[in-house]
Amino acid sequence: MKFATKAIHVGEESGLASNGDVVVPIHLSTTFARRGVEKPRGGYEYSRTANPTRDALELRLAALEESKHALAFASGLAAEATLVLSLLRKGDHVVAFDDLYGGTRRLFSQTLSNFGLDFTYVDAREARNVNRAISKRTKMIWLESPTNPLLKICDIRAISEVASRHQIITVVDNTFMSPFFQNPLQLGADVVLHSATKYLGGHSDVLGGAIMTSNEEIHTKVKFNQNAIGAVPSPFDCFLLLRGMKTLAVRMERHQLNAMRVAEHLEAHPAVVRVIYPGLKSHPQYVLGKKQMSGSGGVLSFEVKGTLSDVKRFLRRVKVFSLAESLGGVESLIEHPASMTHASVPEKAREGVGITDRLVRASVGIEDVSDLIEDLDGALG
Ligand SMILES: *Cc1c(COP(=O)(O)O)cnc(C)c1O
Repeated sequence: MKFATKAIHVGEESGLASNGDVVVPIHLSTTFARRGVEKPRGGYEYSRTANPTRDALELRLAALEESKHALAFASGLAAEATLVLSLLRKGDHVVAFDDLYGGTRRLFSQTLSNFGLDFTYVDAREARNVNRAISKRTKMIWLESPTNPLLKICDIRAISEVASRHQIITVVDNTFMSPFFQNPLQLGADVVLHSATKYLGGHSDVLGGAIMTSNEEIHTKVKFNQNAIGAVPSPFDCFLLLRGMKTLAVRMERHQLNAMRVAEHLEAHPAVVRVIYPGLKSHPQYVLGKKQMSGSGGVLSFEVKGTLSDVKRFLRRVKVFSLAESLGGVESLIEHPASMTHASVPEKAREGVGITDRLVRASVGIEDVSDLIEDLDGALG
């Protein structure tokens, strides 16, 4: 089956459920009766361990990334924490892209580093910067591509090759592209991670996280801790994600069309200094992007001309765009990374990577694009 078909059907094959449900039921039972005291073979025991609605979601998630396995979590960060705690131990070292989702950076530097893990942040746009940071203790490389909010791209294939030569696990946070535009496992990565809160859910009404891998050993370890740590999504969350994912293909196509139009418009706007969007030829890594992604997504960043207070005034004046964190929903959102999503990143680190006070990030939704452009023009004016 092709992507759009799998996004609708996998995990919810009609007629297989006992009543012929076309849509998987929300199984609320937390526990399941068994015939004898022996472990039920293939059956369910307790919903933290496994739940029929979550099983349907995990089948769908695996189908979309073309992985053997997928595991669902209560949020992207829950997936990240469980992944790291499953695969690493005290003394291990991680090389990470220096332009990561702010919450990921906070999890690494303020929580996981308390457990004897070391993190080195490098500009992974140059694969050799990753190579140079690898030591004997390095067990994991953590990438995002494109990054948040600067949409920097790293060569997933080149970095994964070096990593596997050193027996280092490569993890790619694929939230920004969704499985529709990029499949890091096919590029050689070992693990793909998603904040399902964003494009997979797609409607800004459910938190979720996912881990996909085709590596049996990694899957077994993470699955053990999915149950042992317990950061699982509720059956209702799983239902919302299954429902949202049905339209992933059509949504992503429209997100991209709209984002491209907005990016081109802003690039020609006198009140805008520069626009960063992987679909623009002006993106410094346009060619690499074309090689490993089949599209450029719905998120773009741009620098507004003027002072910080001009930027704040602009953000107060948009009407169709909501001034809000997050991304990937059908509605357009706009935000100021330096004071919102990336406020937890130390100022020096923020400026070092290029998150200036004038930088604005937009998640372009699937509204009529002429309304979006009119809104931005009005506020910029
Ligand atoms: C939002 C986000 C996360 C964290 O996911 P939550 O679902 O908010 O916990 C991780 N990575 C990226 C790229 C994100 O955008």
